[in-house]
Amino acid sequence: LYNSLMRHEKMETVSHFAAAVSHELRNPLQSVKGFVQLLQEYEYPRAKQLEFQQTILEEIKVAEDLIDDYLIYAKPVYGEMKRIEVEPELSHVIKIMTPYANARNVEIFVQGSDAASPILGDSQKLHQALVNIIRNGIEAMTDGGKLQVELETSAHTVCVHIQDEGVGMTKEQVKRLGEPYFSNKSKGTGLGLMVTYSILNQMGGDITVESEVGKGTKFTLEFPKLPNG
Ligand code: ADP
Ligand code: MG
Repeated sequence: LYNSLMRHEKMETVSHFAAAVSHELRNPLQSVKGFVQLLQEYEYPRAKQLEFQQTILEEIKVAEDLIDDYLIYAKPVYGEMKRIEVEPELSHVIKIMTPYANARNVEIFVQGSDAASPILGDSQKLHQALVNIIRNGIEAMTDGGKLQVELETSAHTVCVHIQDEGVGMTKEQVKRLGEPYFSNKSKGTGLGLMVTYSILNQMGGDITVESEVGKGTKFTLEFPKLPNG
């Protein structure tokens, strides 16, 4: 009985978020539709056409961000946890985030990436958690900068430190991290960190944040380490 109750609650959570995503997706899709219809109905001056097209691209980006932030989360949360290595996941994530960083004049530096880093988890979820933090770090550096990623393993923990030189946050902002829809970006979803906190929670991990306005932010993801070998 206990088990089925738990399962039921989790499924409710999943369908609640699925409903929230489809609701959120309607807004950008509606505006894309509206602007395409405007362009079809009337021969606007070139400048106006370009402006509408730009808005369409931005709204598509909003929809993409929503999908990116949610995709893994929308999957059932009671998937199997197995032994995985953080290091190859981290390397993979850095590889796929590098074009995004380069486009924003951000250089990613990696340290300590060859250590054994066994944890109990799910590689796709870990991947999602890392992508969301790294993307925020990149987006925080509006004029470009350095993103430092460090993998640190000790006897009982595996830590990933992600440090940027971006806008930073006040104490009040740091407290609100992980709250659904909390975003300071004009086109933010405010869902990325909610997903990341939830994933870390599922893996028995922990997140700490140090931040200073105008200086930057350091996120540390800490996981219980499995014995080597
Ligand atoms: P989104 O990125 O869509 O706004 P997130 O949940 O990923 O949503 O992040 C929520 C908010 O937390 C961001 O809008 C930003 O204000 C703040 N934040 C997260 N990471 C950082 C960071 N590295 N530097 C500064 N602010 C950050
Ligand atoms: Mg984000």
